[in-house]
Amino acid sequence: MAYLDYNATTPVHPAARDAWLEAVDRFWQNPSSPYRQSARVRNELEASRARIAGWLGCKPERIIFNSGATEGVNAVFAYVAGRKDLKASLGLFSPTEHPCTIESAGRHFCDRKRWLRIDEHGRVDLADLEKRLDRERPSIVSVMAANNETGVIQPWPEIAALCRTHRTIYHCDTSQWIAKMPADGLGECSFLTASAHKFGGPKGVGFLVIPEGCNDFRSLLGGEQESGFRAGTEDFPSIAAMVAAWEAFERKSRKEGEARSRFRRKFEEAVRAKVSGITIPGEGAKRLWNTTSLIMPAYENHRWVSRLDRKGFQISTGSACASGDDSPSHVLAAMGFSREETKRAVRISSGWSTTEEEWTGLAEAIAEVFEELNQGGDSSLTEVVSI
Ligand code: PLP
Repeated sequence: MAYLDYNATTPVHPAARDAWLEAVDRFWQNPSSPYRQSARVRNELEASRARIAGWLGCKPERIIFNSGATEGVNAVFAYVAGRKDLKASLGLFSPTEHPCTIESAGRHFCDRKRWLRIDEHGRVDLADLEKRLDRERPSIVSVMAANNETGVIQPWPEIAALCRTHRTIYHCDTSQWIAKMPADGLGECSFLTASAHKFGGPKGVGFLVIPEGCNDFRSLLGGEQESGFRAGTEDFPSIAAMVAAWEAFERKSRKEGEARSRFRRKFEEAVRAKVSGITIPGEGAKRLWNTTSLIMPAYENHRWVSRLDRKGFQISTGSACASGDDSPSHVLAAMGFSREETKRAVRISSGWSTTEEEWTGLAEAIAEVFEELNQGGDSSLTEVVSI
């Protein structure tokens, strides 16, 4: 079976597994307890924080360990929207953000939520952003580093610089960026959110970066863990595993991503040569090396996904992050695709261990499925995947 849905989640990296097992054996004590062994766990925890801070280029005190991006985003918006000095201000959001941003922006900013203008590739229009920073004086701008459906990279360093000049808070969802692309410069954003399971760490652990001096930030109450910013006993083994997974990326040469975008490019050429009429959203923009979204020339995406699954390829519909959600992609809709087109979108996202043969095999399988669907055959097989 070829797994090509890394943007949904990744298998645990062997180094992360080793780190987790070592930590549950050696560092399982509560880091807040008063004896020496707990002090050792605390030291390890702080060393993990310092590693992440080093990669991001920020002070370790800015990093809060938590359960991942969804928790982080909700906490950031609750804090910013509730701040007395910012209460009347607008929040500017990219319409291609993950639902955890869009829905929590709706809850916390209500009628103060505004959309940013994007181009046909889904990238934020910087000239428009600059004008609006001048005119609307928003409390926060939230734009992800790279999109989970299309892989399109946002101009986040430029957005961070514009927000800094205008003294506006910038939140960047880095869930799909970390450990795929270099983290240099991310520490310049005011708030960052991320999840370990997107890059080879365990599920249910991640981190949040807050601005320096943001002393009144509180995400969970009921304890002094994480300097009081987030109460609750830290899951040190999972944090150690997250750091080990990221460390594995840091040891790679920067050229490895380029080699992997060649696999993706060759796949896109091959699949188009076999099936005509495929559109690739965001094709004209810089994209993550691992992701491609295809709008197929015919047939709804769930039919493609279930047939490819039976042929040994696990891919996703464009919008599916949560299983069972087959509503058309809001990302592609915001990029100007029709509802009918978005229903034909599939997402393919590879990982560091995906081989060129898997990409080639997928292109061939897509051609076979197209042939089968055109012939209307295979009707005895249910289109719904049974588990
Ligand atoms: N942001 C992006 C860009 C994502 O792709 C995801 C997960 O699909 C999330 C946030 C939410 O991550 P989690 O479910 O780990 O909280």
